[in-house]
Amino acid sequence: MSSVTIAVQRLSKTFGQTRVLENVGFDIHAGEMVALIGPSGSGKSTLLRHLVGLTTANRKADSHIRVMGRDIQRSGRLLRGSRTQRCRCGYIFQQFNLVGRLSVLTNVLVGRLGSMPRWRALLGRFSDEERAQARQALARVGLAELAEQRANTLSGGQMQRVAIARVLMQDADIILADEPIASLDPRSAREVMDILQRINREDGRTVLVSLHQVDYARRYCPRAIALKQGRLYYDGRTEGLTEARLQALYENAGFDES
Ligand code: ADP
Ligand code: MG
Repeated sequence: MSSVTIAVQRLSKTFGQTRVLENVGFDIHAGEMVALIGPSGSGKSTLLRHLVGLTTANRKADSHIRVMGRDIQRSGRLLRGSRTQRCRCGYIFQQFNLVGRLSVLTNVLVGRLGSMPRWRALLGRFSDEERAQARQALARVGLAELAEQRANTLSGGQMQRVAIARVLMQDADIILADEPIASLDPRSAREVMDILQRINREDGRTVLVSLHQVDYARRYCPRAIALKQGRLYYDGRTEGLTEARLQALYENAGFDES
């Protein structure tokens, strides 16, 4: 039996009058690869942001989030140590969030900043060993030969692979990816998902990835958690998401895509 690495209980969140998450709860075990699905606006990004303490739950709700054995937040309060904990969760964004004018290698090295003593991070100096590690991380995502290029010369798929190398440099045990393939062509999307799958299987890192397209969830993630209008709609084996269930998930969902 593997251990619970992300535990979410009674998570509720409102922004002003808008109810965004309502009594959401689930456990994720170390080493799982889980898809987070649901229509646009169903609360996926908000949920992921709670897991790293970028957002706090409602005060009145008795919400509780525990990550790698540490309490991140409880009843709307961030708890001590949640900043250090954040360093052990790698975050991957739809828009990559690289520094375009810096080299690919430097962008990967940035992954190490969070765990450095602050004075060294401010100086931005990296050791030869760290540089070698960053090159290894780039090799793992298949971009070793682009290390010296400026990040803004890369394609979207390559940028997302650099973002994954940055998370590897961070040595994160948990990888949270918020629609990492939403702006990629199908081939790049597959490459990115293949890499996430490999670091899940080979390193045993836990991956929670929100996905717009259910077919990628089916292909890569044994388990799916679905949100509908901020509520937990489904949590189970991805293959259990029948057409009827999916239709109900996406109907009346306020799909704002054109
Ligand atoms: P998803 O990622 O599934 O598309 P989000 O978590 O981004 O959904 O958003 C869920 C709902 O919360 C949306 O209705 C969105 O407008 C609202 N929302 C998200 N962040 C904020 C915010 N900072 N202030 C107000 N409303 C927000
Ligand atoms: Mg989102």
